[in-house]
Amino acid sequence: MATVIARRIVGDVIERGWPVGEVIGSESDLLERYGVSRAVLREAIRLVENQQVAHMRRGPGGGLVVTEPTVDAIIDAAVLYLHRVNARLDEVFEARLVLEEVVTEMAPARLDETDIANLRQLIADEASGEIVDHRAVHTLLASITRNPALELFVDILNRVPVLYFRDPTAFTSTTFSASHHAHARLTDAVIAGDAGLARRRMRKHLEAEAEFLRNRRSSHQFLPDTVSLGGAVSNKRAEDVARAILHEVIVDELPYGYLLGSEGELIERYGVSRAVFREAVRLLEHHHIAAMRRGPGGGMFVTPPSVDAVTDVVAVYLARRGMKVADLAELRTALELVLADLAAQRITDEGRSRLHEALEAEKSVSEAEFADAGHDLHGVISTLAGNRALELVALVLIRLTRLHQIESLSDSARQKVADQVPRTHEGIAAAIADGDGELARHRLRRHLEVLAKYLR
Ligand SMILES: [Zn+2]
Ligand SMILES: [Zn+2]
Repeated sequence: MATVIARRIVGDVIERGWPVGEVIGSESDLLERYGVSRAVLREAIRLVENQQVAHMRRGPGGGLVVTEPTVDAIIDAAVLYLHRVNARLDEVFEARLVLEEVVTEMAPARLDETDIANLRQLIADEASGEIVDHRAVHTLLASITRNPALELFVDILNRVPVLYFRDPTAFTSTTFSASHHAHARLTDAVIAGDAGLARRRMRKHLEAEAEFLRNRRSSHQFLPDTVSLGGAVSNKRAEDVARAILHEVIVDELPYGYLLGSEGELIERYGVSRAVFREAVRLLEHHHIAAMRRGPGGGMFVTPPSVDAVTDVVAVYLARRGMKVADLAELRTALELVLADLAAQRITDEGRSRLHEALEAEKSVSEAEFADAGHDLHGVISTLAGNRALELVALVLIRLTRLHQIESLSDSARQKVADQVPRTHEGIAAAIADGDGELARHRLRRHLEVLAKYLR
Protein backbone atom coordinates (compact mmCIF):
# COMPACT_ATOMS: atom_id res chain seq x y z
CA MET A 1 0.00 0.00 0.00
CA ALA A 2 2.78 2.43 0.92
CA THR A 3 4.47 1.64 -2.43
CA VAL A 4 1.26 2.47 -4.30
CA ILE A 5 0.87 5.79 -2.45
CA ALA A 6 4.55 6.61 -3.01
CA ARG A 7 4.03 6.04 -6.74
CA ARG A 8 1.00 8.36 -6.68
CA ILE A 9 3.01 11.05 -4.93
CA VAL A 10 5.72 10.75 -7.61
CA GLY A 11 3.00 10.96 -10.29
CA ASP A 12 1.57 14.11 -8.68
CA VAL A 13 5.01 15.72 -8.48
CA ILE A 14 5.61 14.98 -12.20
CA GLU A 15 2.15 16.33 -13.10
CA ARG A 16 2.84 19.60 -11.28
CA GLY A 17 6.01 20.04 -13.34
CA TRP A 18 8.35 19.05 -10.49
CA PRO A 19 8.17 22.35 -8.58
CA VAL A 20 11.36 22.10 -6.47
CA GLY A 21 10.95 23.76 -3.05
CA GLU A 22 7.15 23.91 -3.19
CA VAL A 23 4.98 22.35 -0.47
CA ILE A 24 2.50 19.95 -2.04
CA GLY A 25 0.52 19.44 1.15
CA SER A 26 0.62 19.17 4.93
CA GLU A 27 0.37 15.74 6.52
CA SER A 28 -3.39 16.20 7.09
CA ASP A 29 -3.89 17.37 3.47
CA LEU A 30 -2.13 14.25 2.25
CA LEU A 31 -4.04 11.93 4.60
CA GLU A 32 -7.23 13.28 3.08
CA ARG A 33 -5.99 13.29 -0.53
CA TYR A 34 -4.77 9.69 -0.52
CA GLY A 35 -7.31 8.32 1.96
CA VAL A 36 -4.88 6.12 3.90
CA SER A 37 -3.84 5.68 7.51
CA ARG A 38 -1.11 7.82 9.06
CA ALA A 39 1.19 4.76 9.28
CA VAL A 40 0.85 4.01 5.57
CA LEU A 41 1.36 7.66 4.61
CA ARG A 42 4.50 7.92 6.73
CA GLU A 43 5.92 4.77 5.15
CA ALA A 44 5.13 6.22 1.68
CA ILE A 45 6.84 9.48 2.63
CA ARG A 46 9.91 7.56 3.73
CA LEU A 47 9.99 5.94 0.28
CA VAL A 48 9.75 9.24 -1.63
CA GLU A 49 12.38 10.70 0.69
CA ASN A 50 14.68 7.81 -0.24
CA GLN A 51 14.03 8.49 -3.92
CA GLN A 52 14.73 12.21 -3.39
CA VAL A 53 11.34 13.20 -4.79
CA ALA A 54 10.19 15.11 -1.70
CA HIS A 55 10.85 15.42 2.01
CA MET A 56 8.72 16.24 5.04
CA ARG A 57 9.41 19.59 6.66
CA ARG A 58 8.14 19.81 10.23
CA GLY A 59 6.84 22.88 12.03
CA PRO A 60 4.65 25.81 10.94
CA GLY A 61 4.41 26.21 7.16
CA GLY A 62 5.75 22.68 6.88
CA GLY A 63 4.59 19.82 4.74
CA LEU A 64 5.83 17.63 1.94
CA VAL A 65 8.42 19.70 0.04
CA VAL A 66 9.43 18.76 -3.53
CA THR A 67 13.17 18.10 -3.85
CA GLU A 68 15.60 17.80 -6.74
CA PRO A 69 16.78 14.22 -7.27
CA THR A 70 20.56 13.97 -7.55
CA VAL A 71 22.82 11.29 -8.94
CA ASP A 72 24.15 10.69 -5.40
CA ALA A 73 21.27 8.47 -4.32
CA ILE A 74 21.77 6.35 -7.45
CA ILE A 75 25.51 6.11 -6.89
CA ASP A 76 24.91 4.96 -3.32
CA ALA A 77 22.41 2.30 -4.38
CA ALA A 78 24.63 1.15 -7.28
CA VAL A 79 27.78 0.97 -5.15
CA LEU A 80 25.91 -0.96 -2.49
CA TYR A 81 24.69 -3.43 -5.09
CA LEU A 82 28.13 -3.86 -6.68
CA HIS A 83 29.65 -4.25 -3.23
CA ARG A 84 27.08 -6.87 -2.35
CA VAL A 85 27.68 -8.95 -5.48
CA ASN A 86 31.42 -8.48 -4.99
CA ALA A 87 31.97 -6.91 -8.42
CA ARG A 88 35.61 -6.50 -9.30
CA LEU A 89 37.11 -3.20 -10.34
CA ASP A 90 37.90 -4.54 -13.83
CA GLU A 91 34.19 -5.27 -14.33
CA VAL A 92 33.41 -1.63 -13.57
CA PHE A 93 36.08 -0.58 -16.08
CA GLU A 94 34.79 -2.88 -18.77
CA ALA A 95 31.26 -1.55 -18.22
CA ARG A 96 32.53 2.01 -18.53
CA LEU A 97 34.36 1.15 -21.74
CA VAL A 98 31.24 -0.42 -23.26
CA LEU A 99 29.04 2.59 -22.46
CA GLU A 100 31.59 5.18 -23.52
CA GLU A 101 32.06 3.37 -26.82
CA VAL A 102 28.32 3.76 -27.32
CA VAL A 103 28.82 7.49 -26.65
CA THR A 104 31.49 7.74 -29.36
CA GLU A 105 29.16 5.98 -31.79
CA MET A 106 26.27 8.37 -31.19
CA ALA A 107 27.92 11.70 -30.45
CA PRO A 108 29.52 12.53 -33.85
CA ALA A 109 26.16 12.40 -35.66
CA ARG A 110 24.37 14.47 -33.01
CA LEU A 111 26.69 17.29 -32.09
CA ASP A 112 25.91 20.88 -33.08
CA GLU A 113 28.03 24.04 -33.25
CA THR A 114 27.44 24.89 -29.58
CA ASP A 115 28.76 21.46 -28.58
CA ILE A 116 31.85 21.99 -30.73
CA ALA A 117 32.52 25.33 -29.04
CA ASN A 118 32.01 23.76 -25.60
CA LEU A 119 34.30 20.83 -26.36
CA ARG A 120 37.06 23.12 -27.65
CA GLN A 121 36.70 25.40 -24.63
CA LEU A 122 36.95 22.44 -22.27
CA ILE A 123 40.10 21.13 -23.95
CA ALA A 124 41.64 24.62 -23.79
CA ASP A 125 40.74 24.86 -20.09
CA GLU A 126 42.35 21.47 -19.46
CA ALA A 127 45.50 22.60 -21.26
CA SER A 128 45.75 25.75 -19.13
CA GLY A 129 45.06 23.78 -15.96
CA GLU A 130 41.77 25.56 -15.28
CA ILE A 131 39.83 22.30 -15.36
CA VAL A 132 41.32 19.53 -13.30
CA ASP A 133 38.36 17.16 -13.22
CA HIS A 134 39.21 14.59 -15.86
CA ARG A 135 35.59 13.44 -15.91
CA ALA A 136 34.36 16.73 -17.41
CA VAL A 137 35.16 15.67 -21.00
CA HIS A 138 33.44 12.32 -20.55
CA THR A 139 30.34 14.00 -19.10
CA LEU A 140 30.19 16.56 -21.90
CA LEU A 141 30.60 13.91 -24.61
CA ALA A 142 27.82 11.83 -23.04
CA SER A 143 25.51 14.86 -22.95
CA ILE A 144 25.99 15.30 -26.71
CA THR A 145 24.18 11.99 -27.31
CA ARG A 146 21.00 13.71 -25.94
CA ASN A 147 20.18 10.42 -24.24
CA PRO A 148 19.63 11.06 -20.49
CA ALA A 149 19.86 7.37 -19.62
CA LEU A 150 23.26 7.02 -21.32
CA GLU A 151 24.43 10.25 -19.70
CA LEU A 152 23.40 8.97 -16.29
CA PHE A 153 25.14 5.60 -16.53
CA VAL A 154 28.33 7.12 -17.92
CA ASP A 155 28.33 9.50 -14.96
CA ILE A 156 27.78 6.65 -12.49
CA LEU A 157 30.52 4.46 -13.95
CA ASN A 158 32.94 7.37 -13.98
CA ARG A 159 32.38 7.93 -10.29
CA VAL A 160 32.23 4.40 -8.99
CA PRO A 161 35.92 3.41 -9.55
CA VAL A 162 37.04 6.18 -7.21
CA LEU A 163 35.15 4.45 -4.43
CA TYR A 164 37.35 1.37 -4.75
CA PHE A 165 40.43 3.28 -3.63
CA ARG A 166 41.47 4.28 -0.20
CA ASP A 167 43.39 7.14 -1.74
CA PRO A 168 41.16 8.63 -4.44
CA THR A 169 43.60 11.45 -5.22
CA ALA A 170 45.77 8.89 -7.04
CA PHE A 171 42.92 8.60 -9.48
CA THR A 172 43.10 12.14 -10.80
CA SER A 173 46.48 13.83 -10.53
CA THR A 174 49.14 11.49 -11.91
CA THR A 175 47.42 10.49 -15.10
CA PHE A 176 46.43 14.04 -15.83
CA SER A 177 48.74 15.09 -18.66
CA ALA A 178 48.38 11.77 -20.45
CA SER A 179 44.61 12.08 -20.10
CA HIS A 180 44.61 15.58 -21.48
CA HIS A 181 46.46 14.51 -24.60
CA ALA A 182 44.04 11.61 -25.10
CA HIS A 183 41.04 13.90 -24.53
CA ALA A 184 42.24 16.35 -27.18
CA ARG A 185 42.63 13.58 -29.79
CA LEU A 186 39.30 12.06 -28.83
CA THR A 187 37.36 15.31 -29.20
CA ASP A 188 39.09 15.99 -32.55
CA ALA A 189 37.76 12.68 -33.87
CA VAL A 190 34.25 13.39 -32.56
CA ILE A 191 34.22 16.90 -34.08
CA ALA A 192 35.51 15.49 -37.38
CA GLY A 193 32.49 13.17 -37.34
CA ASP A 194 34.63 10.04 -37.41
CA ALA A 195 32.82 7.66 -35.06
CA GLY A 196 35.16 4.73 -35.78
CA LEU A 197 38.27 6.73 -34.95
CA ALA A 198 36.63 8.28 -31.88
CA ARG A 199 35.74 4.83 -30.67
CA ARG A 200 39.27 3.49 -31.07
CA ARG A 201 40.69 6.52 -29.27
CA MET A 202 38.20 6.17 -26.45
CA ARG A 203 39.12 2.52 -26.01
CA LYS A 204 42.85 3.27 -25.95
CA HIS A 205 42.36 6.09 -23.45
CA LEU A 206 40.19 4.10 -21.04
CA GLU A 207 42.39 1.01 -21.27
CA ALA A 208 45.44 3.10 -20.36
CA GLU A 209 43.58 4.51 -17.38
CA ALA A 210 42.40 1.07 -16.26
CA GLU A 211 45.97 -0.23 -16.50
CA PHE A 212 47.26 2.61 -14.33
CA LEU A 213 44.60 2.01 -11.70
CA ARG A 214 45.03 -1.74 -11.69
CA ASN A 215 48.55 -1.23 -10.40
CA ARG A 216 47.25 0.69 -7.39
CA ARG A 217 46.12 -1.00 -4.24
CA SER A 218 42.39 -1.33 -4.25
CA SER A 219 39.90 -2.94 -2.00
CA HIS A 220 36.29 -3.84 -2.45
CA GLN A 221 35.95 -5.53 0.93
CA PHE A 222 34.86 -2.33 2.62
CA LEU A 223 32.02 0.04 1.93
CA PRO A 224 33.26 3.64 1.66
CA ASP A 225 31.99 5.93 4.42
CA THR A 226 30.70 8.32 1.78
CA VAL A 227 28.13 5.75 0.68
CA SER A 228 24.90 6.09 2.58
CA LEU A 229 22.31 3.34 2.90
CA GLY A 230 19.49 5.66 3.76
CA GLY A 231 20.17 9.02 2.10
CA ALA A 232 20.26 12.30 3.99
CA VAL A 233 17.27 11.45 6.14
CA SER A 234 18.68 8.32 7.68
CA ASN A 235 19.05 7.78 11.44
CA LYS A 236 22.78 7.44 12.19
CA ARG A 237 22.43 4.58 14.70
CA ALA A 238 20.12 2.63 12.41
CA GLU A 239 22.52 3.11 9.54
CA ASP A 240 25.43 1.84 11.67
CA VAL A 241 23.51 -1.33 12.56
CA ALA A 242 22.56 -1.89 8.90
CA ARG A 243 26.18 -1.41 7.85
CA ALA A 244 27.43 -3.85 10.48
CA ILE A 245 24.97 -6.49 9.26
CA LEU A 246 25.89 -5.83 5.61
CA HIS A 247 29.56 -6.22 6.53
CA GLU A 248 28.87 -9.55 8.23
CA VAL A 249 26.92 -10.80 5.19
CA ILE A 250 29.75 -9.89 2.82
CA VAL A 251 32.83 -10.83 4.84
CA ASP A 252 31.41 -14.17 5.97
CA GLU A 253 29.90 -14.76 2.52
CA LEU A 254 26.63 -15.77 4.12
CA PRO A 255 24.33 -17.73 1.76
CA TYR A 256 20.82 -16.59 0.84
CA GLY A 257 18.29 -17.73 3.40
CA TYR A 258 20.86 -17.76 6.22
CA LEU A 259 19.29 -16.89 9.57
CA LEU A 260 21.11 -13.92 11.12
CA GLY A 261 19.10 -14.09 14.34
CA SER A 262 15.74 -13.31 15.87
CA GLU A 263 14.70 -9.71 16.44
CA GLY A 264 15.37 -10.05 20.19
CA GLU A 265 18.86 -11.53 19.66
CA LEU A 266 19.87 -8.87 17.16
CA ILE A 267 18.57 -6.02 19.33
CA GLU A 268 20.66 -7.34 22.17
CA ARG A 269 23.73 -7.93 19.99
CA TYR A 270 23.74 -4.37 18.65
CA GLY A 271 22.51 -2.72 21.85
CA VAL A 272 19.90 -0.49 20.22
CA SER A 273 16.22 0.24 20.83
CA ARG A 274 13.50 -1.62 18.97
CA ALA A 275 12.64 1.54 17.01
CA VAL A 276 16.23 2.01 15.83
CA PHE A 277 16.51 -1.67 14.94
CA ARG A 278 13.32 -1.53 12.85
CA GLU A 279 14.70 1.48 10.99
CA ALA A 280 17.83 -0.59 10.24
CA VAL A 281 15.61 -3.44 9.00
CA ARG A 282 13.90 -1.03 6.59
CA LEU A 283 17.27 -0.04 5.12
CA LEU A 284 18.39 -3.67 4.79
CA GLU A 285 15.11 -4.65 3.18
CA HIS A 286 15.18 -1.66 0.82
CA HIS A 287 18.62 -2.70 -0.46
CA HIS A 288 17.74 -6.42 -0.56
CA ILE A 289 20.46 -7.36 1.90
CA ALA A 290 18.33 -9.06 4.57
CA ALA A 291 14.66 -9.28 5.44
CA MET A 292 12.61 -9.94 8.55
CA ARG A 293 10.23 -12.89 8.59
CA ARG A 294 7.65 -12.81 11.38
CA GLY A 295 6.10 -15.70 13.24
CA PRO A 296 7.54 -18.90 14.71
CA GLY A 297 10.95 -19.79 13.26
CA GLY A 298 11.12 -16.20 12.07
CA GLY A 299 13.94 -13.73 12.30
CA MET A 300 16.26 -11.89 9.97
CA PHE A 301 17.35 -13.79 6.86
CA VAL A 302 19.91 -12.98 4.16
CA THR A 303 18.15 -12.17 0.86
CA PRO A 304 19.51 -12.47 -2.70
CA PRO A 305 20.75 -9.18 -4.18
CA SER A 306 18.31 -7.34 -6.43
CA VAL A 307 18.58 -4.35 -8.71
CA ASP A 308 15.20 -3.03 -7.54
CA ALA A 309 16.61 -0.38 -5.21
CA VAL A 310 18.75 0.98 -8.07
CA THR A 311 15.86 0.78 -10.58
CA ASP A 312 13.69 2.75 -8.19
CA VAL A 313 15.97 5.77 -7.91
CA VAL A 314 16.98 5.64 -11.59
CA ALA A 315 13.32 5.68 -12.68
CA VAL A 316 12.65 8.81 -10.62
CA TYR A 317 15.81 10.58 -11.74
CA LEU A 318 15.17 9.91 -15.44
CA ALA A 319 11.52 10.95 -15.12
CA ARG A 320 12.76 14.25 -13.71
CA ARG A 321 15.18 14.60 -16.64
CA GLY A 322 12.29 14.11 -19.08
CA MET A 323 13.61 10.91 -20.60
CA LYS A 324 11.62 9.48 -23.50
CA VAL A 325 10.90 5.77 -24.02
CA ALA A 326 12.85 5.97 -27.29
CA ASP A 327 15.99 6.96 -25.34
CA LEU A 328 15.57 3.95 -23.13
CA ALA A 329 15.04 1.59 -26.07
CA GLU A 330 18.04 3.03 -27.91
CA LEU A 331 20.43 2.50 -25.03
CA ARG A 332 18.99 -0.88 -24.21
CA THR A 333 19.54 -2.09 -27.78
CA ALA A 334 23.13 -0.81 -27.92
CA LEU A 335 23.96 -2.41 -24.59
CA GLU A 336 22.21 -5.73 -25.17
CA LEU A 337 24.05 -6.24 -28.47
CA VAL A 338 27.38 -5.96 -26.66
CA LEU A 339 26.14 -8.29 -23.93
CA ALA A 340 25.03 -10.93 -26.45
CA ASP A 341 28.49 -10.80 -27.97
CA LEU A 342 30.22 -11.11 -24.59
CA ALA A 343 27.86 -13.95 -23.60
CA ALA A 344 28.75 -15.83 -26.82
CA GLN A 345 32.47 -15.34 -26.15
CA ARG A 346 32.22 -16.47 -22.53
CA ILE A 347 29.67 -19.26 -22.89
CA THR A 348 30.12 -22.40 -20.74
CA ASP A 349 28.12 -25.60 -20.35
CA GLU A 350 26.46 -24.14 -17.28
CA GLY A 351 25.54 -21.08 -19.37
CA ARG A 352 24.03 -23.31 -22.06
CA SER A 353 21.78 -25.00 -19.52
CA ARG A 354 20.72 -21.62 -18.12
CA LEU A 355 19.68 -20.53 -21.63
CA HIS A 356 17.77 -23.77 -22.03
CA GLU A 357 16.01 -23.31 -18.69
CA ALA A 358 15.01 -19.75 -19.60
CA LEU A 359 13.45 -20.92 -22.88
CA GLU A 360 11.63 -23.76 -21.11
CA ALA A 361 10.30 -21.35 -18.49
CA GLU A 362 8.97 -19.09 -21.23
CA LYS A 363 7.03 -21.98 -22.77
CA SER A 364 5.04 -22.41 -19.58
CA VAL A 365 3.93 -18.77 -19.53
CA SER A 366 0.39 -18.23 -20.82
CA GLU A 367 -0.10 -16.14 -23.96
CA ALA A 368 -1.84 -13.34 -22.11
CA GLU A 369 1.07 -12.89 -19.75
CA PHE A 370 3.77 -13.29 -22.32
CA ALA A 371 4.32 -9.71 -23.36
CA ASP A 372 4.96 -8.76 -19.75
CA ALA A 373 6.67 -11.83 -18.39
CA GLY A 374 8.38 -13.33 -21.44
CA HIS A 375 11.63 -11.46 -21.44
CA ASP A 376 13.60 -13.40 -18.88
CA LEU A 377 15.95 -14.57 -21.62
CA HIS A 378 17.29 -11.02 -21.88
CA GLY A 379 18.12 -11.04 -18.17
CA VAL A 380 19.87 -14.41 -18.50
CA ILE A 381 21.96 -13.13 -21.43
CA SER A 382 23.04 -10.11 -19.38
CA THR A 383 24.10 -12.48 -16.59
CA LEU A 384 26.01 -14.75 -19.00
CA ALA A 385 28.01 -11.75 -20.25
CA GLY A 386 29.96 -12.23 -17.02
CA ASN A 387 30.14 -8.61 -15.91
CA ARG A 388 28.14 -7.63 -12.81
CA ALA A 389 28.34 -3.90 -13.50
CA LEU A 390 27.00 -4.29 -17.06
CA GLU A 391 24.41 -6.73 -15.79
CA LEU A 392 23.21 -4.10 -13.32
CA VAL A 393 22.81 -1.47 -16.06
CA ALA A 394 21.07 -3.95 -18.39
CA LEU A 395 18.64 -5.20 -15.75
CA VAL A 396 17.70 -1.66 -14.78
CA LEU A 397 17.03 -0.80 -18.44
CA ILE A 398 15.09 -4.02 -19.04
CA ARG A 399 12.88 -3.33 -16.03
CA LEU A 400 12.27 0.26 -16.99
CA THR A 401 11.26 -0.66 -20.56
CA ARG A 402 9.02 -3.38 -19.19
CA LEU A 403 7.24 -0.83 -16.99
CA HIS A 404 6.61 1.31 -20.06
CA GLN A 405 5.56 -1.68 -22.14
CA ILE A 406 2.96 -2.81 -19.65
CA GLU A 407 1.42 0.66 -19.78
CA SER A 408 1.55 1.14 -23.52
CA LEU A 409 1.04 -2.20 -25.29
CA SER A 410 -2.37 -2.61 -26.92
CA ASP A 411 -4.07 -6.03 -26.83
CA SER A 412 -3.37 -6.73 -30.51
CA ALA A 413 0.29 -5.77 -30.09
CA ARG A 414 0.44 -8.04 -27.06
CA GLN A 415 -0.84 -10.89 -29.18
CA LYS A 416 1.73 -10.27 -31.92
CA VAL A 417 4.56 -10.15 -29.39
CA ALA A 418 3.38 -13.40 -27.84
CA ASP A 419 3.30 -15.05 -31.28
CA GLN A 420 6.77 -14.01 -32.36
CA VAL A 421 8.89 -13.98 -29.26
CA PRO A 422 9.41 -17.69 -28.44
CA ARG A 423 10.86 -18.60 -31.86
CA THR A 424 13.01 -15.47 -31.97
CA HIS A 425 14.33 -16.16 -28.48
CA GLU A 426 15.24 -19.72 -29.46
CA GLY A 427 17.30 -18.38 -32.36
CA ILE A 428 19.15 -15.88 -30.18
CA ALA A 429 19.87 -18.49 -27.50
CA ALA A 430 21.10 -20.99 -30.10
CA ALA A 431 23.60 -18.48 -31.55
CA ILE A 432 24.96 -17.66 -28.08
CA ALA A 433 25.19 -21.36 -27.17
CA ASP A 434 27.26 -21.88 -30.36
CA GLY A 435 29.55 -19.04 -29.38
CA ASP A 436 28.52 -17.17 -32.54
CA GLY A 437 28.53 -13.55 -31.34
CA GLU A 438 27.90 -12.00 -34.78
CA LEU A 439 24.79 -14.06 -35.42
CA ALA A 440 23.53 -13.49 -31.88
CA ARG A 441 23.91 -9.73 -32.38
CA HIS A 442 22.07 -9.84 -35.68
CA ARG A 443 19.14 -11.83 -34.32
CA LEU A 444 18.91 -9.75 -31.17
CA ARG A 445 19.00 -6.48 -33.14
CA ARG A 446 16.13 -7.62 -35.36
CA HIS A 447 14.17 -8.75 -32.31
CA LEU A 448 14.61 -5.45 -30.44
CA GLU A 449 13.72 -3.46 -33.56
CA VAL A 450 10.42 -5.34 -33.81
CA LEU A 451 9.70 -4.79 -30.11
CA ALA A 452 10.57 -1.08 -30.35
CA LYS A 453 7.84 -0.63 -32.97
CA TYR A 454 5.24 -1.60 -30.38
CA LEU A 455 6.47 0.97 -27.90
CA ARG A 456 4.90 4.38 -27.88
ZN1 LIG B 1 39.42 10.68 -19.62
ZN1 LIG C 1 12.81 -10.77 -26.12
